[in-house]
Amino acid sequence: MSEERFIDCWKENEEEQIINLSLRPKNLKEFLGQKNIISPLEISLEAAAKRSEPLEHMLLSGPPGLGKTSLAYCVAHQMKAKLTATSGPAIERAGDLVGILTNLEAGDILFIDEIHRLSKVVEEFLYPAMENFQIDFIIDKGPYAKSVKFNLKPFTLIGATTRKGLLSGPLRGRFGLFYDFDFYNPDELSEIVRRSAELLGIEIDSKSSIEIARRSRGSPRLCNRLLRRVRDYAQVVGKGIIDIDITQDSLAKVGVDNQGLDDMDRKYLLAIINLHHGGPAGIEAIAATLREDRLTLEDVVEPYLLKEGFIIRSPRGRIRSEEHTSELQSH
Ligand code: ADP
Repeated sequence: MSEERFIDCWKENEEEQIINLSLRPKNLKEFLGQKNIISPLEISLEAAAKRSEPLEHMLLSGPPGLGKTSLAYCVAHQMKAKLTATSGPAIERAGDLVGILTNLEAGDILFIDEIHRLSKVVEEFLYPAMENFQIDFIIDKGPYAKSVKFNLKPFTLIGATTRKGLLSGPLRGRFGLFYDFDFYNPDELSEIVRRSAELLGIEIDSKSSIEIARRSRGSPRLCNRLLRRVRDYAQVVGKGIIDIDITQDSLAKVGVDNQGLDDMDRKYLLAIINLHHGGPAGIEAIAATLREDRLTLEDVVEPYLLKEGFIIRSPRGRIRSEEHTSELQSH
């Protein structure tokens, strides 16, 4: 992307990673929202505990910043299990997994973030580990090379992905539980804002927590990021309490408007409205107009605009919704 976006939830800087650790829900009770996931998950957890078996392998999918990693840690907490975390791009060779897998104790959790980015070789190495808790690895080279089977302790693999469609069929088939994360609604997000404010030790009124929630584009990662910006402003410019004036001023400075849109969203929508006469406009044409990469638009810009109804996807291309974009056009 040509410019850094404040609202970009794909990346967390180091400072944010540290703060988010303290804001992360610690157990399923603290995990707000996503009721469609939590209720069936609690039943699966209870059933596995009754059978004294590890939980089936679980695939968590959905846009970044919605709580996939947090949920994996909550599951580990619930199962009183140790969680080892790694990610698809971090595992370059199958050998990188041997140490991790052989160190897992019975019932432990292996969390692989961005699991769609595992190489084919690594993926195939994982199949017997997932299926029979066994790995095959080659020792020695040349004529003396031989394959050795190694039994693993029964563990649960939790994979997280932002691109479920990119997972190969055989890998997907080895998971037993599938949970798709959806964007949070404003009520859930304002509860997350209130909880985070309490943990950060800052007072916030209810109008402000609702305002921050409204502009958070359905994402807890973004709502915590906005909250921290507003907190800084309240501490420096205000009286150390977050009220609605402080909230509106500081959010305007960050460039997120009252519909949760930033410059990039506005440019995208205005390109459809003004240059493509409201659409339908093909994604390639919009990408060329904005000099952006098509995948970036599909992954980073469009999900929120589609979800909120700013645009509609038709077979002939994207069409703007007049109702949602009239305010934008009049500026
Ligand atoms: P993902 O793995 O999907 O990218 P994370 O689990 O890293 O998302 O979540 C980002 C941050 O958002 C977390 O550090 C946490 O502070 C917050 N968060 C996510 N989900 C929830 C939730 N359900 N309740 C409260 N806070 C949440």
